[in-house]
Amino acid sequence: MIHRRLLQLVGVVAGPVVLMAALSTLVSACHIAGAVLAATVLADLTGGNLTAVPPAIAVLVGVVVVRAVLLWSREVTAARFGIAIRTRLRGELLRRITQLGPGWTQGGRAGAITHTVVDGVEALDAYYSRYLPQLIVTCVVPIGVAGWLFTVSVPAAAVLTVAVLCAVVVPRFWDARLLRTGQTRWSAYEKLAADYLEATHAISVLRVFGAGRRIGEALAERGEHLHRRTMTQLRVSLVEAGASALALHLGTAVTIVVACAGVLGGVTPAGSVLLFLLCARECFRPVLDLSAYWHLGYQGLGAVKGIDEILTAHPAVVDTGTRTEPARAGVRLRLRNVDYRYPNGTGVTDVSFDCAPGSTTGIVGPSGAGKSTLARLIVRHADPQQGTIELDGTPITEYTLAALRASIGVVGQHTYLFHGTVEENLRLARPDATFEEVRTAAFIADALEFIEALPQGFATVLTENAVQLSGGQRQRLAIARAVLAATPVLLFDEATSALDVDTEQRVLTRLAEHCRGITRIVIAHRESALRDADVVVTIESGRVVSSVTPL
Ligand code: ADP
Ligand code: MG
Repeated sequence: MIHRRLLQLVGVVAGPVVLMAALSTLVSACHIAGAVLAATVLADLTGGNLTAVPPAIAVLVGVVVVRAVLLWSREVTAARFGIAIRTRLRGELLRRITQLGPGWTQGGRAGAITHTVVDGVEALDAYYSRYLPQLIVTCVVPIGVAGWLFTVSVPAAAVLTVAVLCAVVVPRFWDARLLRTGQTRWSAYEKLAADYLEATHAISVLRVFGAGRRIGEALAERGEHLHRRTMTQLRVSLVEAGASALALHLGTAVTIVVACAGVLGGVTPAGSVLLFLLCARECFRPVLDLSAYWHLGYQGLGAVKGIDEILTAHPAVVDTGTRTEPARAGVRLRLRNVDYRYPNGTGVTDVSFDCAPGSTTGIVGPSGAGKSTLARLIVRHADPQQGTIELDGTPITEYTLAALRASIGVVGQHTYLFHGTVEENLRLARPDATFEEVRTAAFIADALEFIEALPQGFATVLTENAVQLSGGQRQRLAIARAVLAATPVLLFDEATSALDVDTEQRVLTRLAEHCRGITRIVIAHRESALRDADVVVTIESGRVVSSVTPL
């Protein structure tokens, strides 16, 4: 089966596919040469022409050896290119996912996306490294062989051609059905993967609320659903394989009968029966191999929908800016009449304020007022429908996304720390920072003390999302990471919410002392976080209701 969307990705893997097709064609050529030689030897033996037999056998042995070498190199190439193909496909998908941005990957899709990119690509490997090259071989070899057999016996070759066509075409009637059942099965698989991922993440919550057994039963039900879908797909797939096998056996039998009739009628030489017997197999071999490879690769077809979603989704923001140079320290950030609506109608309306170079702007407001929405707009996870956000006098849309990300650092309320050492986590944005810089950043975030008290200090390995640390410690590592990134604008979205008032104060004071030129925006609930703010902007229901300078 040829799938438009999968072909679109072929550009990424064209080289390996063509090489595999070339090797497979050579293997087929050897098979055919072997068949023709074997038929000649047998004809010579039965015809009494014994002197011609030894040289023909010698050539036949040579052909068998060459074929063995070719088969070996084809397998090695397939394995090697399988890895290359998977890497390239994943690279391409990840590139697109990165373009799509966080708005797209959120919303319970993490499990499904992981499943598509990991398992889907794994299953698709056979489609590209085996199926597509074999498809090319199947188009070339049977046509060549059947065409040549027409010069031996027209009726027998005609029957063979019809049989091969049937073996190729008839199973295609099941293609649409197979694709449908494959996608149903895949989405069942995807949902199961997403549910398992969620259950694994939420295991402590499930235990606390005694919901473990219930969720376990729901997962078992999903597993059973997947099993049923798999069996349905398997049934359709087996019917399809059966149809091509029937065409093969019936086709060969009828071809031989017609060839025999030709010999009996004296129209064709006696040896031609052997030739047809052996060459009919070679005509069908590519078709059978294609069917076998299909069964290796068809699992991956279910992933097409997931891949399609990734390839056709539109990024929330387009990277069309031309300013590649990040802003410098001491930069002004200005929002002018910014309007942004989520599809459900909530959002922010006519927001304007000014963050002077090196100042601290506090943003306060009740939960749901639109503070985090402003943060998302400032880092361009989304673009406002109206109004502009300017950095250094230039609209942020005129910066390339890379330059913008290098200009504005963000610490959100929910931080993410990776599996790796504390130091690796801190160096995320600046792997080349000196250890002294790493320590200073940790000091500013008031994290130095507890990091040094960890068993291996900065070399302590954190588990995924650092569950061995407290919420406040995680937040301080996230702040240290952003401080080390040394962007000229730093935005905290309730980034100190898990710290006690004293620690919060210490962090903000150190930040003001050590990062003088940095323009800071602090979104917070508590008044204490805004004590040092130069301006406090209050947001309610998406609108600025006051903008005051604290006394
Ligand atoms: P705050 O950070 O001030 O608590 P938010 O900016 O997160 O508030 O949310 C502002 C409003 O926008 C809320 O009413 C919220 O329900 C809505 N909202 C936030 N994120 C989304 C989203 N991804 N899709 C739809 N509505 C959203
Ligand atoms: Mg918020």
